[in-house]
Amino acid sequence: MTNQPVLEVDNLKTYFYLEDEKVAKAVDNVSFKIYPGETVALVGESGSGKSMTGLSVMRLVKDPGKIVDGSITLNQLDLLALHDREVTSIRGNDIAMIFQEPMTALNPVFTIGNQITEVLRKHKKISKQAAKEKAIELLHMVGIPRAKEIMKEYPHQLSGGMRQRVMIAIAISCEPKLLIADEPTTALDVTIQAQILELLEDLKRKLGMGLLLITHDLGVVYEYADRVMVMYGGQIVEHSHTKELLKLTKHPYTEGLLKSIPNMDSEVDRLGTIKGIVPPSYQFPKGCRFSDRCPYVMEKCIKSNPDMIKITPNHDVRCFLYAEGGNKN
Ligand code: SF4
Repeated sequence: MTNQPVLEVDNLKTYFYLEDEKVAKAVDNVSFKIYPGETVALVGESGSGKSMTGLSVMRLVKDPGKIVDGSITLNQLDLLALHDREVTSIRGNDIAMIFQEPMTALNPVFTIGNQITEVLRKHKKISKQAAKEKAIELLHMVGIPRAKEIMKEYPHQLSGGMRQRVMIAIAISCEPKLLIADEPTTALDVTIQAQILELLEDLKRKLGMGLLLITHDLGVVYEYADRVMVMYGGQIVEHSHTKELLKLTKHPYTEGLLKSIPNMDSEVDRLGTIKGIVPPSYQFPKGCRFSDRCPYVMEKCIKSNPDMIKITPNHDVRCFLYAEGGNKN
């Protein structure tokens, strides 16, 4: 890993301006870095702002959403200062994203070969023949057998796992510096999930990419992520190296998430739950955004939202239970 982050997000705010002057703060003051060769997981329930963070980094936020503040720097390039045309060329070349359901990203009326070669020709300006050869090589790289035949097939002829492999082939076709994988295995069978995650890890190592893994699955985080950021209410509420975060969990929300997954070593036969649901992002509580669900809520949590503080050099938390340096308040 080098000292220079491939991606640096600083105080990012993505807001949606809704009817009746409601403002949905989908991403609110989010900051993080990703280094080359590193897998960073972004975890949280649906509606916590994870996917919108990924889409913001890709500059794919649609109306009525808007990035209203902050900065996104990709390899020292200020992404928010670029024109749409320039961003289109960066997207696919330097930064790529794969989604939960590859069928929505693949075009059903074009063959797999057409779709991969089109991306290659657009970004790499190479001949048709060279693009075809590269596409076959990419299909081999992502573990697709009979690559030459698959080039002539259509997305509906492939299984979900194979379609996701094709999407990964397209995403890595220009050797991006950063890959954002948004719930890449959620729609797949359990046995295929592990294969796809192994493939992503393998490609990340080979290509030296940074990988932002967006997931709700803490099992996936444990297996694959170097660092974890837990997101709630459009904000990162806890961040650390994976082992430290899972062992020395601080934030009550992270604690709730961990209690809600099965532990093979535990004799407890009923899983924990977090009461309530994530509030809509135009209706967060006034103070701490987790205050209406938190079992430790205090008077001051209702009045103000805590800042992120450092409790060890590698561990940050947003909660009034802790003071800078890690002592309990
Ligand atoms: Fe719970 Fe208060 Fe911490 Fe928020 S700040 S997570 S309400 S203890």
